[in-house]
Amino acid sequence: MTARAASNTELPWHESVWTPISRALAQQSVAHGILVCGATGVGKRRFAERLMAALLCIERQDNGDACGECARCRQRLAGTHPDISRLRPEEAGRQIKVDQVRAFGHSLHLTPQYDTGRLGWIEPAEQLSPSAANSLLKTLEEPPGGCHIILITDRVSALMATIRSRCQLWRVPSAEPASGRAWLMSQGVDASVGDDDLMRTPLAFLSRIEVGYDELVADWDRDLIRLLEVKANPVTVAERVAKQPPTLWADWLYRRAQTLLQASLTLADAAPTGDHQAALAAAARRLGAGVIEPWCRGVVRATRLQQTNADWRLVVESLLIDLSQRIASTANR
Ligand SMILES: [Zn+2]
Repeated sequence: MTARAASNTELPWHESVWTPISRALAQQSVAHGILVCGATGVGKRRFAERLMAALLCIERQDNGDACGECARCRQRLAGTHPDISRLRPEEAGRQIKVDQVRAFGHSLHLTPQYDTGRLGWIEPAEQLSPSAANSLLKTLEEPPGGCHIILITDRVSALMATIRSRCQLWRVPSAEPASGRAWLMSQGVDASVGDDDLMRTPLAFLSRIEVGYDELVADWDRDLIRLLEVKANPVTVAERVAKQPPTLWADWLYRRAQTLLQASLTLADAAPTGDHQAALAAAARRLGAGVIEPWCRGVVRATRLQQTNADWRLVVESLLIDLSQRIASTANR
């Protein structure tokens, strides 16, 4: 299994439903209409993405997973696969309209670019309006050859019985608390505070954490500005950061390094959005590319270490100390 395929969609508590799916894939007996259901936060979308990936790949792995590397997989990952049609509400929370279903049905009847056939994706299926659901029945009854339609829903009971009966139902199970907790920890999330019930729906837990993401980013931005202005102690900042989700911090820092680098290379005021970003850009221009550029290279190296066994606190600490020293050396010149 490639690391890429694994990290994108594979969740350990899905194995009990993935095993029969992989058998069906091997026997080419996956139904044309597939309804993926399960509680909110069990990872239905990831499961559906994994299935879609497998259906579109021509170099599947032994366990049925897509290879992640063939031309078709690369197109899918880049969001440019020509045979995928998606049907979603025009606005979040609204119903999917009958006109949308007609256009969707039409796109599925176009000649596919690849012999794996067209792939329709409907999400969330419970938001099909009654007339839209009726219109979809025809496509589900007589799908174009080789076409698969994946419907995803949190509330299978809200779907018309006629839609349900035309689809193969795959129920994504909740996680065992230990399995959910272990997976969250592997994502760099401190799941020690969540009770067992929360651990059954790990992706719901993850989104709760992500709700606090904006606050984290605001803190990180403030710290970074203070470091650039030599008003913060890098060791103290590193101590704080080391207790927070490494993936999120590394991802944020990588993006901020790009902002800093760009600003340090241009004298003109670019147009960064938000007060913090403007302050960061101003600091980067003041310090210049001579300080910023080598440090940004260090950022790239450090963010890579996040997926290794390296002591993360030390990685962060030495990266921030390095920044302070580079700034100090320009002040002393
Ligand atoms: Zn592939």
